[in-house]
Amino acid sequence: MFLKRMEMKGFKSFADPLHIEIEPGITVVVGPNGSGKSNIADGIRWVLGEQSAKSLRGSKMADVIFAGSDERRRVNMAEVTLVLDNESGFLPLSYTEISLTRRLYRSGESEYLLNRQPCRRKDIIDVMMDSGLGREAYSIIGQGQVEQVLSSKPEDRRVIFEEAAGVVKYQSRKRESERKLADTNDNLARVQDILHELE
Ligand code: ATP
Repeated sequence: MFLKRMEMKGFKSFADPLHIEIEPGITVVVGPNGSGKSNIADGIRWVLGEQSAKSLRGSKMADVIFAGSDERRRVNMAEVTLVLDNESGFLPLSYTEISLTRRLYRSGESEYLLNRQPCRRKDIIDVMMDSGLGREAYSIIGQGQVEQVLSSKPEDRRVIFEEAAGVVKYQSRKRESERKLADTNDNLARVQDILHELE
């Protein structure tokens, strides 16, 4: 699996539609300070379900929508699409190409699409979990993050190794099953109460 294309429109400094084709191997993005290099990494993180505006270097989520410049009016929607090559079948979907899209409107409305079909944020997170490109994955290392990793608590650092080892998916499924079990126990207790009342 590899990221083969990225499309952005109205996201941060990219007011006009931007298509970035990425070949297998090493890709380097170069440019002057403030030209938008980090905004590309923010775009990837955003599509993968990032919910913290602070992690995207803003104060609220709407800050990812192009806010206007001296030459351009602001826009009302930000959209980013990642196109992944899945010829190897690495991702758990039977498509050789997978596209993930996120949109946000100024009204606050937002959408996620998987292969251009509306989906939930959870569907995107599930597909990408343990792929190495997940939201919490070690594949995007921001400025200052190396220092943060080195100085973080052992428990926090363990999360990085767990993602790399591919166990995050199972932990998440376990938590979901435990929650369902707890809900079922609550429902059972309620049924018992009703039965007592009827007796
Ligand atoms: P450096 O090399 O200094 O780290 P960079 O190339 O990584 O810079 P970014 O941090 O990606 O640059 O981009 C910063 C630019 O993006 C700033 O000029 C900022 O004004 C612009 N920007 C960020 N959000 C928006 C937005 N919502 N609307 C318009 N411009 C934005």
